[in-house]
Amino acid sequence: MTDAPGGPTDLVCTLSFFSGYACRERGACCTAGWPIPIEREPLARVRRALTDGLLHPASRTSDLFVVSPDAPDDAPALVACTSTGCVFHRADAARARCELQRTLGVAALPHACRQFPRVVVAAPNRLSVTLSAFCPTVTELLHDDVEPAIVARSRAEGEVLTGLDTTGGLPPALRPDMLMSWEAWWRWEAAAIRVIRDAGTSAEAIARLSIAVERVRGWHPADGNLEERIDTAFAPLTSCLPPTGDAPPTLPDIDTVVDGLVGCVPGPFQQTAHEALMRRGRPVRDDVRRRLLAAHAFANWTAHLGEGLRTWLRSIASVHVLLEGGIAPRDVDLVLRHLADPAALARRWRGVEAPPPALRQRARRAVKAPSDPE
Ligand code: SF4
Repeated sequence: MTDAPGGPTDLVCTLSFFSGYACRERGACCTAGWPIPIEREPLARVRRALTDGLLHPASRTSDLFVVSPDAPDDAPALVACTSTGCVFHRADAARARCELQRTLGVAALPHACRQFPRVVVAAPNRLSVTLSAFCPTVTELLHDDVEPAIVARSRAEGEVLTGLDTTGGLPPALRPDMLMSWEAWWRWEAAAIRVIRDAGTSAEAIARLSIAVERVRGWHPADGNLEERIDTAFAPLTSCLPPTGDAPPTLPDIDTVVDGLVGCVPGPFQQTAHEALMRRGRPVRDDVRRRLLAAHAFANWTAHLGEGLRTWLRSIASVHVLLEGGIAPRDVDLVLRHLADPAALARRWRGVEAPPPALRQRARRAVKAPSDPE
């Protein structure tokens, strides 16, 4: 992971309903108990402010930073946590706030605090940014009556956008033995968001995306232009008419999804993940669900870490199954965005990438010996 450099990646693409996001210091990230690394520069600044008596931690503890015993004085560290969260997090009856930010400003915050709740993919000519609904402010944005769409803007001065760096890599795979082009991938992403916007329900959105995946994944360069194939596959799916003639998707049941997710969470956090996925409430409104599906379809890490469009779809279908089961968007994203290992998820889901029948036929033709009868 890396902070994307300036220049060609100054183009920032995000989703319409997230474009008004700003931190309201709700404290979800500050009380999660996650280790917060603090880099050398902000650490030095914070230490100076503590020595000068300008900054006062919210929690009384002797060690504000966790450092390795052999580390030099200027080495990065972890901000210490108590049972109520980060030592700089102060919560009173009126509001939660970060003492560090209040005293020294946003620029003095650790990188992780400035980045949360952004989930970023850095591609060769753009930064794709979605948000995690673990943040209560983001959950509220999911309830706003804004149609899902991809919107573009320029990167703001000093804006911290760190994420999955694909700038030196290859575009996502169509299937295990075939890559897409970057243009085809962005075409796909934009069409998928339109399908989610126009589908009557989240279940219908998944069904339509599944049809598009199956219509496109068998593509071969000899078939013509991949972008045109994507347009053709999606054209009837963005209309209001229900698609017909294609097999409905086979979705995993909720127990399979939960077990798979917990299995991808590192040991110390498995209990937290399991508890989050056992909390069941009332299912959320369908428009909220579709916005969360869009938030996962866009800037999707599985598309880059996995082996094809079916794996991409499985990551979105998992969100759908959890929401259908009454798990709140916040708990879904706690596990999917913050606790599960993204590479482990992509490996777990890759079993869905069996070759389509057309490809198997083509492969069989390719291995036929010259003397074989026609
Ligand atoms: S440093 Fe501030 S923003 Fe970061 S976790 Fe601590 S209280 Fe929250």
